Amino acid sequence: MQWKKQIRNLTPYKPGKPAAEVKKEFGLDNIVKLASNENPFGFSPKIDDWFKENGVNHAIYPDGYATKLRDSLAGFYHLQPKQFIFGNGSDEIIQIISRALLEPGKNTIMPVPTFPQYRHNAIIEGAEVIEIPLIKGEHDLKNMLTSINEQTAVLWLCSPNNPTGTYINNDDLRDFLNKVPSHVLIVLDEAYYEYVIAPDYYDAVALISEYPNLLVTRTFSKAYGLAGFRVGYGMASEELIQTIEPVREPFNTNVLAQVSAEIAVSDQSFVSECRMANRKGLAQYYTFCDELALEYYPSQGNFILIDFKRDADELFRALLQQGFIVRSGQALGFPTSLRITVGSTEQNSRIIEVLKELLQQ
Ligand SMILES: *Cc1c(COP(=O)(O)O)cnc(C)c1O
Repeated sequence: MQWKKQIRNLTPYKPGKPAAEVKKEFGLDNIVKLASNENPFGFSPKIDDWFKENGVNHAIYPDGYATKLRDSLAGFYHLQPKQFIFGNGSDEIIQIISRALLEPGKNTIMPVPTFPQYRHNAIIEGAEVIEIPLIKGEHDLKNMLTSINEQTAVLWLCSPNNPTGTYINNDDLRDFLNKVPSHVLIVLDEAYYEYVIAPDYYDAVALISEYPNLLVTRTFSKAYGLAGFRVGYGMASEELIQTIEPVREPFNTNVLAQVSAEIAVSDQSFVSECRMANRKGLAQYYTFCDELALEYYPSQGNFILIDFKRDADELFRALLQQGFIVRSGQALGFPTSLRITVGSTEQNSRIIEVLKELLQQ
Protein backbone atom coordinates (compact mmCIF):
# COMPACT_ATOMS: atom_id res chain seq x y z
CA MET A 1 0.00 0.00 0.00
CA GLN A 2 1.07 3.53 -0.58
CA TRP A 3 1.06 5.07 2.88
CA LYS A 4 2.36 8.59 3.33
CA LYS A 5 5.92 7.89 4.39
CA GLN A 6 5.78 10.34 7.31
CA ILE A 7 3.12 8.34 9.17
CA ARG A 8 5.49 5.39 9.60
CA ASN A 9 7.40 7.29 12.26
CA LEU A 10 4.33 8.42 14.19
CA THR A 11 3.00 6.66 17.25
CA PRO A 12 -0.66 6.74 18.28
CA TYR A 13 -1.54 9.07 21.17
CA LYS A 14 -0.92 7.35 24.50
CA PRO A 15 -3.67 8.28 26.92
CA GLY A 16 -3.02 8.01 30.65
CA LYS A 17 -3.78 4.64 32.24
CA PRO A 18 -7.52 4.22 32.75
CA ALA A 19 -8.49 4.35 36.43
CA ALA A 20 -10.19 0.95 36.27
CA GLU A 21 -6.97 -0.70 35.09
CA VAL A 22 -4.88 0.91 37.83
CA LYS A 23 -7.41 -0.20 40.45
CA LYS A 24 -7.12 -3.78 39.34
CA GLU A 25 -3.36 -3.81 38.89
CA PHE A 26 -2.55 -2.45 42.35
CA GLY A 27 -5.60 -3.74 44.22
CA LEU A 28 -6.74 -0.21 45.10
CA ASP A 29 -10.24 0.96 46.00
CA ASN A 30 -9.75 4.59 45.24
CA ILE A 31 -8.06 6.24 42.29
CA VAL A 32 -7.47 9.94 41.85
CA LYS A 33 -6.80 10.90 38.24
CA LEU A 34 -4.87 14.15 37.95
CA ALA A 35 -3.40 13.44 34.53
CA SER A 36 -5.50 15.06 31.80
CA ASN A 37 -6.47 18.45 33.23
CA GLU A 38 -10.11 17.49 33.47
CA ASN A 39 -12.33 19.50 35.80
CA PRO A 40 -12.31 17.88 39.29
CA PHE A 41 -15.68 19.54 39.99
CA GLY A 42 -17.39 17.96 37.01
CA PHE A 43 -19.70 20.22 34.99
CA SER A 44 -22.58 22.60 35.47
CA PRO A 45 -25.46 20.90 37.35
CA LYS A 46 -27.80 22.61 34.88
CA ILE A 47 -26.74 20.07 32.28
CA ASP A 48 -27.98 17.09 34.29
CA ASP A 49 -31.15 19.03 35.09
CA TRP A 50 -31.79 19.52 31.39
CA PHE A 51 -31.28 15.85 30.57
CA LYS A 52 -33.67 14.82 33.36
CA GLU A 53 -36.41 16.85 31.69
CA ASN A 54 -35.50 16.44 28.03
CA GLY A 55 -34.32 13.88 25.57
CA VAL A 56 -32.68 14.04 22.17
CA ASN A 57 -33.63 12.00 19.13
CA HIS A 58 -30.60 9.85 18.38
CA ALA A 59 -31.95 8.83 14.97
CA ILE A 60 -31.59 12.34 13.61
CA TYR A 61 -28.32 13.91 12.46
CA PRO A 62 -27.18 16.85 14.53
CA ASP A 63 -27.43 20.40 13.24
CA GLY A 64 -24.13 20.46 11.39
CA TYR A 65 -23.91 24.21 11.81
CA ALA A 66 -24.48 24.00 15.60
CA THR A 67 -26.76 27.01 15.24
CA LYS A 68 -27.97 27.30 18.83
CA LEU A 69 -24.53 26.87 20.36
CA ARG A 70 -23.11 29.25 17.76
CA ASP A 71 -25.69 31.91 18.56
CA SER A 72 -25.20 31.60 22.29
CA LEU A 73 -21.42 31.97 21.98
CA ALA A 74 -21.82 34.87 19.55
CA GLY A 75 -23.99 36.58 22.15
CA PHE A 76 -21.59 35.75 24.96
CA TYR A 77 -18.55 37.19 23.15
CA HIS A 78 -20.33 39.92 21.14
CA LEU A 79 -19.08 38.42 17.89
CA GLN A 80 -20.91 37.47 14.69
CA PRO A 81 -22.16 33.85 14.48
CA LYS A 82 -20.12 33.41 11.29
CA GLN A 83 -16.91 34.03 13.24
CA PHE A 84 -17.02 30.55 14.82
CA ILE A 85 -16.02 27.09 13.69
CA PHE A 86 -16.85 24.08 15.86
CA GLY A 87 -14.90 20.88 16.29
CA ASN A 88 -15.14 17.48 17.92
CA GLY A 89 -12.87 18.91 20.59
CA SER A 90 -10.44 21.71 19.79
CA ASP A 91 -8.18 18.85 18.72
CA GLU A 92 -10.30 18.70 15.60
CA ILE A 93 -9.90 22.44 15.00
CA ILE A 94 -6.13 21.86 15.02
CA GLN A 95 -6.64 19.07 12.49
CA ILE A 96 -8.87 21.21 10.26
CA ILE A 97 -6.36 24.07 10.25
CA SER A 98 -3.54 21.66 9.44
CA ARG A 99 -5.51 20.08 6.61
CA ALA A 100 -6.42 23.47 5.21
CA LEU A 101 -2.95 25.02 5.25
CA LEU A 102 -0.17 22.47 5.57
CA GLU A 103 1.42 20.36 2.84
CA PRO A 104 4.87 19.35 1.64
CA GLY A 105 6.90 22.45 0.87
CA LYS A 106 5.24 24.48 3.64
CA ASN A 107 6.48 24.88 7.16
CA THR A 108 4.89 25.52 10.53
CA ILE A 109 6.40 27.13 13.63
CA MET A 110 5.61 26.16 17.22
CA PRO A 111 7.12 26.32 20.68
CA VAL A 112 8.57 23.19 22.29
CA PRO A 113 7.56 21.69 24.69
CA THR A 114 3.91 22.38 24.01
CA PHE A 115 0.68 20.58 23.18
CA PRO A 116 1.77 17.73 20.88
CA GLN A 117 -1.11 17.85 18.40
CA TYR A 118 0.26 20.81 16.40
CA ARG A 119 3.35 18.82 15.50
CA HIS A 120 1.48 15.55 15.04
CA ASN A 121 -0.96 16.99 12.50
CA ALA A 122 1.76 18.93 10.67
CA ILE A 123 3.74 15.74 10.17
CA ILE A 124 0.72 13.89 8.79
CA GLU A 125 0.28 16.69 6.25
CA GLY A 126 3.96 16.47 5.27
CA ALA A 127 4.88 20.01 6.33
CA GLU A 128 8.24 20.92 7.84
CA VAL A 129 8.01 21.46 11.61
CA ILE A 130 10.09 24.25 13.12
CA GLU A 131 10.21 23.95 16.89
CA ILE A 132 11.41 26.90 18.94
CA PRO A 133 12.45 25.95 22.49
CA LEU A 134 10.77 27.76 25.36
CA ILE A 135 12.95 30.06 27.44
CA LYS A 136 12.32 29.50 31.16
CA GLY A 137 9.03 27.87 30.26
CA GLU A 138 7.89 30.79 28.09
CA HIS A 139 7.48 31.28 24.34
CA ASP A 140 10.59 32.63 22.63
CA LEU A 141 8.61 35.06 20.48
CA LYS A 142 11.70 36.77 19.07
CA ASN A 143 13.06 33.52 17.73
CA MET A 144 9.66 32.42 16.45
CA LEU A 145 9.45 35.66 14.50
CA THR A 146 12.88 35.36 12.89
CA SER A 147 12.10 31.76 11.87
CA ILE A 148 9.25 32.87 9.61
CA ASN A 149 9.90 32.66 5.87
CA GLU A 150 7.89 32.65 2.62
CA GLN A 151 6.90 29.00 3.15
CA THR A 152 5.58 29.49 6.67
CA ALA A 153 1.86 28.72 6.69
CA VAL A 154 0.90 28.38 10.36
CA LEU A 155 2.44 29.61 13.60
CA TRP A 156 1.13 28.10 16.85
CA LEU A 157 0.98 29.84 20.21
CA CYS A 158 -0.30 28.10 23.33
CA SER A 159 -1.29 30.43 26.15
CA PRO A 160 -1.51 29.27 28.89
CA ASN A 161 1.00 26.77 27.56
CA ASN A 162 0.54 23.08 28.21
CA PRO A 163 2.57 21.68 30.05
CA THR A 164 4.22 24.73 31.66
CA GLY A 165 1.14 26.81 32.54
CA THR A 166 2.94 29.99 31.46
CA TYR A 167 1.21 32.69 29.39
CA ILE A 168 2.03 35.46 26.96
CA ASN A 169 1.30 38.95 28.26
CA ASN A 170 -0.68 41.57 26.36
CA ASP A 171 2.24 43.83 25.39
CA ASP A 172 4.40 40.97 24.15
CA LEU A 173 1.55 39.41 22.18
CA ARG A 174 0.51 42.66 20.51
CA ASP A 175 4.07 43.51 19.64
CA PHE A 176 4.44 40.05 18.12
CA LEU A 177 1.17 40.16 16.16
CA ASN A 178 2.20 43.52 14.70
CA LYS A 179 5.34 41.96 13.29
CA VAL A 180 4.06 38.66 11.89
CA PRO A 181 3.60 38.95 8.11
CA SER A 182 0.06 38.58 6.81
CA HIS A 183 0.72 35.35 4.85
CA VAL A 184 1.10 33.48 8.16
CA LEU A 185 -1.92 32.17 10.10
CA ILE A 186 -1.34 32.62 13.82
CA VAL A 187 -3.24 30.10 15.93
CA LEU A 188 -3.61 31.01 19.58
CA ASP A 189 -4.64 27.93 21.58
CA GLU A 190 -6.44 29.04 24.73
CA ALA A 191 -7.67 25.70 26.05
CA TYR A 192 -7.20 27.01 29.62
CA TYR A 193 -8.52 30.53 29.02
CA GLU A 194 -11.26 30.27 31.66
CA TYR A 195 -8.70 29.65 34.40
CA VAL A 196 -6.57 32.73 33.68
CA ILE A 197 -6.43 35.53 36.26
CA ALA A 198 -3.20 37.33 35.26
CA PRO A 199 -3.96 41.08 35.09
CA ASP A 200 -1.67 41.62 32.08
CA TYR A 201 -3.37 38.90 30.04
CA TYR A 202 -4.63 40.00 26.61
CA ASP A 203 -8.20 40.03 25.31
CA ALA A 204 -8.15 37.51 22.48
CA VAL A 205 -11.68 38.33 21.33
CA ALA A 206 -10.69 41.98 20.81
CA LEU A 207 -7.54 40.90 18.99
CA ILE A 208 -9.33 38.89 16.32
CA SER A 209 -11.05 42.00 15.00
CA GLU A 210 -7.68 43.75 14.76
CA TYR A 211 -5.68 40.91 13.22
CA PRO A 212 -7.28 39.15 10.23
CA ASN A 213 -4.62 36.40 10.32
CA LEU A 214 -5.33 35.39 13.95
CA LEU A 215 -7.44 32.39 14.94
CA VAL A 216 -8.17 31.63 18.60
CA THR A 217 -9.16 28.16 19.81
CA ARG A 218 -11.01 27.38 23.03
CA THR A 219 -12.68 24.27 24.40
CA PHE A 220 -15.44 22.91 26.59
CA SER A 221 -13.14 20.12 27.78
CA LYS A 222 -11.30 21.87 30.58
CA ALA A 223 -13.01 24.47 32.83
CA TYR A 224 -16.48 23.63 31.47
CA GLY A 225 -15.91 19.99 32.40
CA LEU A 226 -17.23 18.46 29.18
CA ALA A 227 -14.15 16.54 27.97
CA GLY A 228 -16.27 13.44 27.41
CA PHE A 229 -18.55 15.20 24.97
CA ARG A 230 -15.76 16.55 22.72
CA VAL A 231 -16.55 20.08 21.72
CA GLY A 232 -14.17 22.94 20.99
CA TYR A 233 -14.23 25.97 18.73
CA GLY A 234 -12.21 28.44 16.76
CA MET A 235 -12.88 32.19 16.52
CA ALA A 236 -11.51 34.51 13.85
CA SER A 237 -12.57 37.01 11.22
CA GLU A 238 -15.60 35.91 9.24
CA GLU A 239 -13.53 35.68 6.06
CA LEU A 240 -10.94 33.39 7.63
CA ILE A 241 -13.56 31.10 9.16
CA GLN A 242 -15.53 30.86 5.91
CA THR A 243 -12.33 29.88 4.08
CA ILE A 244 -11.64 26.90 6.35
CA GLU A 245 -15.27 25.82 6.90
CA PRO A 246 -15.33 23.52 3.82
CA VAL A 247 -12.57 21.41 5.43
CA ARG A 248 -14.80 20.60 8.42
CA GLU A 249 -16.79 17.37 8.37
CA PRO A 250 -20.47 18.18 8.03
CA PHE A 251 -21.71 16.59 11.29
CA ASN A 252 -18.60 16.79 13.44
CA THR A 253 -20.17 17.87 16.73
CA ASN A 254 -22.88 15.63 18.09
CA VAL A 255 -26.31 16.46 19.50
CA LEU A 256 -25.44 15.78 23.15
CA ALA A 257 -22.29 17.88 22.92
CA GLN A 258 -24.06 20.83 21.33
CA VAL A 259 -26.86 20.88 23.90
CA SER A 260 -24.49 20.47 26.85
CA ALA A 261 -22.09 23.14 25.67
CA GLU A 262 -24.91 25.61 25.15
CA ILE A 263 -26.15 25.07 28.72
CA ALA A 264 -22.57 25.28 29.99
CA VAL A 265 -22.12 28.75 28.44
CA SER A 266 -25.24 29.93 30.22
CA ASP A 267 -23.85 28.93 33.62
CA GLN A 268 -20.88 31.23 34.06
CA SER A 269 -21.14 31.11 37.84
CA PHE A 270 -20.07 27.46 37.71
CA VAL A 271 -17.02 28.49 35.68
CA SER A 272 -16.04 31.27 38.06
CA GLU A 273 -16.40 28.98 41.07
CA CYS A 274 -14.05 26.52 39.38
CA ARG A 275 -11.62 29.32 38.57
CA MET A 276 -11.52 30.40 42.23
CA ALA A 277 -11.20 26.83 43.52
CA ASN A 278 -8.36 26.30 41.06
CA ARG A 279 -6.51 29.33 42.47
CA LYS A 280 -6.80 27.88 45.97
CA GLY A 281 -5.61 24.52 44.71
CA LEU A 282 -2.61 26.03 42.99
CA ALA A 283 -1.74 27.83 46.23
CA GLN A 284 -1.60 24.44 47.99
CA TYR A 285 1.00 23.27 45.47
CA TYR A 286 2.97 26.53 45.65
CA THR A 287 3.22 26.20 49.43
CA PHE A 288 4.33 22.60 49.10
CA CYS A 289 6.97 23.49 46.49
CA ASP A 290 8.28 26.41 48.51
CA GLU A 291 8.54 24.28 51.65
CA LEU A 292 10.54 21.63 49.85
CA ALA A 293 12.46 24.08 47.64
CA LEU A 294 11.09 22.48 44.47
CA GLU A 295 11.09 24.48 41.24
CA TYR A 296 7.83 25.04 39.38
CA TYR A 297 6.27 27.40 36.88
CA PRO A 298 3.55 29.64 38.30
CA SER A 299 0.51 28.44 36.38
CA GLN A 300 -2.45 30.15 34.72
CA GLY A 301 -3.96 26.74 33.92
CA ASN A 302 -5.49 24.01 36.07
CA PHE A 303 -2.24 22.07 36.29
CA ILE A 304 1.25 22.59 37.58
CA LEU A 305 4.61 21.37 36.31
CA ILE A 306 6.91 20.63 39.25
CA ASP A 307 10.58 19.72 38.92
CA PHE A 308 11.39 16.99 41.44
CA LYS A 309 14.98 16.70 40.18
CA ARG A 310 14.66 12.94 39.89
CA ASP A 311 13.49 10.47 37.28
CA ALA A 312 9.89 11.42 36.55
CA ASP A 313 8.82 7.95 35.42
CA GLU A 314 9.93 6.42 38.74
CA LEU A 315 8.02 9.00 40.73
CA PHE A 316 5.03 8.53 38.43
CA ARG A 317 5.03 4.78 39.13
CA ALA A 318 5.40 5.29 42.88
CA LEU A 319 2.36 7.59 42.83
CA LEU A 320 0.44 5.11 40.72
CA GLN A 321 0.92 2.43 43.37
CA GLN A 322 -0.69 4.80 45.85
CA GLY A 323 -3.64 5.43 43.55
CA PHE A 324 -2.66 8.74 41.95
CA ILE A 325 -2.45 9.05 38.17
CA VAL A 326 -0.43 12.09 37.03
CA ARG A 327 1.58 12.84 33.87
CA SER A 328 5.26 12.06 33.82
CA GLY A 329 7.32 14.84 32.31
CA GLN A 330 9.39 12.24 30.42
CA ALA A 331 7.04 12.31 27.46
CA LEU A 332 6.41 16.04 27.81
CA GLY A 333 9.99 17.24 27.42
CA PHE A 334 10.67 17.66 31.16
CA PRO A 335 12.27 14.37 32.24
CA THR A 336 12.53 15.23 35.94
CA SER A 337 9.13 16.90 36.32
CA LEU A 338 5.54 15.80 36.85
CA ARG A 339 2.52 17.61 35.49
CA ILE A 340 -0.23 17.41 38.07
CA THR A 341 -3.81 18.53 37.42
CA VAL A 342 -5.14 20.70 40.23
CA GLY A 343 -7.83 18.65 41.93
CA SER A 344 -10.23 19.34 44.80
CA THR A 345 -8.71 20.70 48.04
CA GLU A 346 -8.81 17.22 49.52
CA GLN A 347 -7.26 15.52 46.48
CA ASN A 348 -4.47 18.10 46.45
CA SER A 349 -3.75 17.62 50.17
CA ARG A 350 -3.64 13.86 49.77
CA ILE A 351 -1.26 13.79 46.82
CA ILE A 352 0.96 16.39 48.51
CA GLU A 353 1.15 14.19 51.63
CA VAL A 354 2.06 11.15 49.56
CA LEU A 355 4.65 13.15 47.61
CA LYS A 356 6.25 14.34 50.85
CA GLU A 357 6.58 10.74 52.02
CA LEU A 358 7.99 9.57 48.71
CA LEU A 359 10.52 12.37 48.60
CA GLN A 360 11.80 11.52 52.07
CA GLN A 361 12.65 7.95 51.03
C1 LIG B 1 -6.65 19.74 26.32
C2 LIG B 1 -6.06 20.62 25.30
C3 LIG B 1 -6.61 20.76 24.02
C4 LIG B 1 -7.65 19.83 23.46
O1 LIG B 1 -8.83 19.88 24.02
P1 LIG B 1 -10.10 19.22 23.33
O2 LIG B 1 -10.58 18.27 24.36
O3 LIG B 1 -9.71 18.53 22.06
O4 LIG B 1 -10.97 20.38 23.09
C5 LIG B 1 -6.09 21.68 23.14
N1 LIG B 1 -5.03 22.42 23.49
C6 LIG B 1 -4.44 22.30 24.69
C7 LIG B 1 -3.28 23.15 25.01
C8 LIG B 1 -4.92 21.39 25.63
O5 LIG B 1 -4.30 21.25 26.80
